[in-house]
Amino acid sequence: FDFGHFGVALKNNIKNSWWKKFVDNRRDMYGLDAAILMNGKVWEASGHVTGFSDPMEDGKQFNVMFKTQVGAGEEVAISYLRPETAQGMFVNFKNTVDAFHPKLPFGMAQIGKAFRNEIAPRDFIFRQREFEQMEIEYFIRPEDWEKYFEYWRSEMLEWMEEIGLDMGKVYELEVPDADRAHYSKRTIDFEFDFPFGKKELFGLAYRTDFDLSTHKLEYIDEEEGGKTVPHVIEPSIGVDRALLALLISAYVEDDKEGEVRSYLKFKPNIAPVICAVSPLLKNKPELVEYANIKVYAPLKAEFGRVAWDDNGNIGKRYRRQDEIGTPFCIVVDFNTLTDNTVTVRDRDTGNQERVKVSELKYYIKEKIS
Ligand code: ATP
Repeated sequence: FDFGHFGVALKNNIKNSWWKKFVDNRRDMYGLDAAILMNGKVWEASGHVTGFSDPMEDGKQFNVMFKTQVGAGEEVAISYLRPETAQGMFVNFKNTVDAFHPKLPFGMAQIGKAFRNEIAPRDFIFRQREFEQMEIEYFIRPEDWEKYFEYWRSEMLEWMEEIGLDMGKVYELEVPDADRAHYSKRTIDFEFDFPFGKKELFGLAYRTDFDLSTHKLEYIDEEEGGKTVPHVIEPSIGVDRALLALLISAYVEDDKEGEVRSYLKFKPNIAPVICAVSPLLKNKPELVEYANIKVYAPLKAEFGRVAWDDNGNIGKRYRRQDEIGTPFCIVVDFNTLTDNTVTVRDRDTGNQERVKVSELKYYIKEKIS
């Protein structure tokens, strides 16, 4: 699947809100952008070469990693497109520790593409062969694992609410022993009530010291003395599934003036377009010029995700922006030319108020926060 203009804006807003909450706003988190193609030995050590398989209809196991060749001639080596971002963080564990000397607990965070040769990709962007993950590996002392498992469980729920997921559709599933991944001692799946069924949205796993041990990594604990292998709590979030669940959460139909309208009730912090600017009439140069220079240009410079919409009558423009999920439509009319105010129309209520052009920026900033 390819994402167009509004899709990529929505995706970026989801990723930015995650990065802000879990990296920028914290003191114990280190960011990373690791390579997609890593040395094949990483995937041998992690257990993915032997264990990352799904059963096929005839009962045979099918390894879902995409295999590829790296190099040419005698130098050729087998490698894989990463099926999860996690291993990039484990193999960079020592670099992060050497560079920052963090005290336990601390975490590493990464957003990036992952690839799985899924046997049956389906349900729109729910199950794809190429998708994006936002993962944290949080390194802890083993005796603290239950405490931090609970902590990350509530952090994940808090973030889901912040971006505007319909929490009435979110369920927690305690994954039974037999169904857990080879590395995990406890996993919770956060499930979402999709139109095609209740399915996994995100995961939270206690990965023990499995990964750091298999990569032969350790940590010198200056506080407690001696070497130790930290244990890991992993909150794992799929960007595409977040986006799909968000579309489903935001979709609303209501009755406006005897007409059914459908719109996306995105929170202003997540909406792909924060506001649209329109001159009331596009054949009146004085309105167009005012709207362009005094309203659109400064808002565009401030927020980026601002649309210019002068196509069709005002009613049609409102409907179009409703479908995009734009929270505010700003219209420059003839009064604007004399009193320097514009109408701001609220997507959800349809109510309009007049706002001074000089205050628009602050008006919108307040709505975002
Ligand atoms: P599933 O059981 O649905 O195959 P999983 O348990 O294998 O998922 P994880 O390995 O826990 O998934 O991956 C972490 C997250 O990455 C998932 O919770 C999901 O949000 C996302 N994800 C995994 N596989 C896909 C996929 N094929 N397409 C889109 N997102 C995915």
